[in-house]
Amino acid sequence: MIDDGDKFQPTPMAKMPRFAGSSTFMRLPLIDEPGKVDIALIGVPFDGGTTNRAGARHGPRQIREMSTMIRRVHHVSKLAPFTLCRCADLGDVPINPLDLMQSLEKIEQFMSRVHGAGAAPLSVGGDHLVTLPILRAVARDQALGMVHFDAHSDTTDSYFGGSRYSHGTPFRRAIEEGLLDPTRVVQIGVRGSLHDVDDLDWPLAQGVRIITMEEAYDLGCDGVIAEARRVAGTGPVYVSFDVDGLDPVYAPGTGTPEVGGLSTHEAQRMIRGLQGLDIIGGDVVEVAPPYDPSGNTALVAATMLFEMLCVLADARAARAI
Ligand code: MN
Ligand code: MN
Repeated sequence: MIDDGDKFQPTPMAKMPRFAGSSTFMRLPLIDEPGKVDIALIGVPFDGGTTNRAGARHGPRQIREMSTMIRRVHHVSKLAPFTLCRCADLGDVPINPLDLMQSLEKIEQFMSRVHGAGAAPLSVGGDHLVTLPILRAVARDQALGMVHFDAHSDTTDSYFGGSRYSHGTPFRRAIEEGLLDPTRVVQIGVRGSLHDVDDLDWPLAQGVRIITMEEAYDLGCDGVIAEARRVAGTGPVYVSFDVDGLDPVYAPGTGTPEVGGLSTHEAQRMIRGLQGLDIIGGDVVEVAPPYDPSGNTALVAATMLFEMLCVLADARAARAI
């Protein structure tokens, strides 16, 4: 049996069956004090950065619901994140759906409070723009590396004649602002038709390592993992998982699906393969429940969240030694 110690635990099934009670991330307690946790699970229900099909604002609620399927111990690594670290649901960032810039400030403020309390944020979007204010909060002290799963590079300069803040631009801004060290950024699963032939020139010129889906297929899971670990190196790393990195067969509930993507199993293995990196936080973004009436995309996202939680908790525990 697991020794719970004094850490928060998912509500035991003997106390309340998993289909009952209010939904929180992984059935953890809902608290508002980041100083009481090592890892803060946070919803960011903002999709005002979406350029095309909106709906990711509904992601956190449905992912909380489907995350009640998650148990306590990883079936392969045997990692038990709730025993390794103090984890809890810190609720949702109170964004303003009518004001993009104000919402970015609110997200940054919320994450700064979490970061300032010494907790690592593991967030659930929301569209991918939410990662920018998260990075502004957690990369204030030093530029981070990043392992980024996505069909898209998200390094476009602007959309619609000069709008610089959208879910297609967060990593352009993050590199410009010195939040990410581009030579320690690896993007996995990039594919899909481009706006222009030179779309990827800018990130490549900054030194970002782009593993296209074609290359990922040729390398295989172990090859992708080895390359991601080489690029991320030994410094602090953020992990960002856009659910559209997966093939829409597995994750149709997203605004910008691209066929020919990762399978759920491949993505699970790749996240798991990051164990041992100095992971300091992460997110799962772009789940848009309106496009998937089955709810499976949210289950997939909750499962990826657990994969990330396990390697994050392991890194966090290693830091404490
Ligand atoms: Mn993205
Ligand atoms: Mn994407």
